[in-house]
Amino acid sequence: MPNTLSTVAYTVAAALFILSLSGLGNPETARRGNFFGIAGMLIALVATAAGQQFSGYGMLALALIPAALIGWVLASRVQMTEMPQLVALLHSFVGAAAVLVGFATLLKPNHTMIGAEAAIHTIEIYIGVCIGSVTFTGSVIAFAKLHGIIGGKPLILPARHLANIIVLLVTLWIGSQFVHAVETEQIARSLWLLGAATAITALLGIHMVMAIGGADMPVVVSMLNSYSGWAAAAAGFMLSNDLLIITGALVGSSGAILSYIMCKGMNRSFLSVILGGFGAAEGTAVEVEGEHREIQVDQTVSLIRNAKRIVIVPGYGMAVAQAQHTLSELTKDLQSNGVMVQFAIHPIAGRLPGHMNVLLAEANVSYDIVLEMDEINHEFPETDLVLVIGANDIVNPSAIDDPASTIAGMPVLEVWKAKDVIVMKRSMASGYAGIANPLFFKPNTQMLFGDAKKNVDAILTAYRSG
Ligand code: NDP
Repeated sequence: MPNTLSTVAYTVAAALFILSLSGLGNPETARRGNFFGIAGMLIALVATAAGQQFSGYGMLALALIPAALIGWVLASRVQMTEMPQLVALLHSFVGAAAVLVGFATLLKPNHTMIGAEAAIHTIEIYIGVCIGSVTFTGSVIAFAKLHGIIGGKPLILPARHLANIIVLLVTLWIGSQFVHAVETEQIARSLWLLGAATAITALLGIHMVMAIGGADMPVVVSMLNSYSGWAAAAAGFMLSNDLLIITGALVGSSGAILSYIMCKGMNRSFLSVILGGFGAAEGTAVEVEGEHREIQVDQTVSLIRNAKRIVIVPGYGMAVAQAQHTLSELTKDLQSNGVMVQFAIHPIAGRLPGHMNVLLAEANVSYDIVLEMDEINHEFPETDLVLVIGANDIVNPSAIDDPASTIAGMPVLEVWKAKDVIVMKRSMASGYAGIANPLFFKPNTQMLFGDAKKNVDAILTAYRSG
């Protein structure tokens, strides 16, 4: 493909990626955004493969066909509740790719570059490998934490911030040695130094994610998303591929914005997330004790019948049970009987940013009754009944009442301010953060135990038969 044609193709692909991101910003245009993204990626793949510098079609087929098949099988089999793990794993691939591209570029130097240009290229290799390595190990640990292979408790090493700073300084020093070694053509030494930097930044990635507590994992997922973008951009610089630089920068900056939004939603400092290691509070959390009250389906239906205004709070358990479709039907029945029904969405509900919005959209719940936490929190005192469906951490009053709680300071949905609260879950077990929830013992809270889908099905049947 002539150079001008591939430049045109890259420009079109870049424009499609930007349109894709803007489309994904709103549930109503998200489908179109997805389509733009797919089209952009197809154009990018074809233009790269048909590019002038490219000749190894056999190798490309060998890499692309099995990878596409594995990706297809994995993506079609993965449960919606396992998406975060898959995303974390995919981030780790981007990190690993940046490291490999870095080593490959070092081993096959571009002799046309001299002077400052060559030095900048060497620095690009070094930065790309370091970001890639942090992203790779950080994402693998995030995967293990999200999949429950590693527990959610933060690993708090003594003087951990000092350790991080020392690692950063050592990485900078190795970097200066590396640039000098490449300049003076000491190939073995430069390889050795790059290997040392890979190992040390790999340890940094492990430490940064291990130090993050269970409830703060959403920020880590979006932060690693951002890192993977910067790793891809760095690979783009190494390969002199403009489209990879643009795509990487788009992913990197949108991931950073998402991390910032998540931090705001959780009342955490953006800087402490970037530096790694938060989520552990000082002191001992208050013991949660008391007697909970149990409720059955028929009594739940009576409360529903008497309510004029109902707020539904979905959480991870709704996704596990796949209760959203029946909930949508129940909502429509209630609305047709004149009941005001709204959904309250916490920014970190579920296991993925926007997890609940996706599920509710899939079940055709109208967007105008799906409200963000800030929009609905002040309305709970005027609410007759709150139905908490498989949510736990996002409605935990300890975040407000107990400064020693690991979720202290995180804004939560203040459902206990409503007249009545029914919590649907299978047991008294804790949520992802692994902490007890005093909401279950409040005088206006009743527990409806069992699988959320089975219970919502039973409620709908009883409501319709009455
Ligand atoms: P939680 O994990 O706090 O609670 C979910 C509850 O659902 C559990 O207590 C469980 O209780 C219940 N549950 C599970 N399966 C079912 C079922 N089949 N039927 C009924 N209930 C069920 O979820 P929340 O949404 O409240 O909070 C999200 C948590 O996940 C936060 O701690 C957040 O930090 C974390 N997280 C969020 C991410 C994101 O991006 N949104 C990413 C990573 C982590 P029981 O076992 O008794 O049924």
